[in-house]
Amino acid sequence: MPSFVNPEKCDGCKGGEKTACMYICPNDLMVLNPDAMRAYNQEPDQCWECYSCVKICPQGAIEVRHYADLAPMGGYVQPMRGTDSIMWTIKFRNGNTKRFKFPIRTTAEGSIKPYAGKPEGGNLDDGLLFTETAGRATLTPAQDA
Ligand code: SF4
Ligand code: SF4
Repeated sequence: MPSFVNPEKCDGCKGGEKTACMYICPNDLMVLNPDAMRAYNQEPDQCWECYSCVKICPQGAIEVRHYADLAPMGGYVQPMRGTDSIMWTIKFRNGNTKRFKFPIRTTAEGSIKPYAGKPEGGNLDDGLLFTETAGRATLTPAQDA
């Protein structure tokens, strides 16, 4: 089920050229109505409920409608991002509410070097996966099982 914007909470990111939800959506679904200064999901059918826009919205204006098996009949799942953690509020259909707090990354964006210490290049003919050490490729399939 797609995300949707609560127009009573959205402030259009105060008129920025590109709103936070527009910036973060991997599917370029969020757009800003410049007259109303409210964002909206322009193609709900294409939303894969990744929650990125929900988490980044500074006004908490975006929600995702859930499938009935996850949050049936009025259930509700809403994250709120802080500086060092994210709080998930889960409301059950019986009215019970639970909250779960998880830390978020503290390293600067782009500072992680995923290939550090890994071999450069690679030989496509040696049969090894990227992080495998030499030797495994010499095993027969039976030995490898
Ligand atoms: S990130 Fe939130 S406040 Fe900003 S435009 Fe999108 S819905 Fe509105
Ligand atoms: S939930 Fe994900 S795919 Fe859907 S509009 Fe938000 S950022 Fe885009």
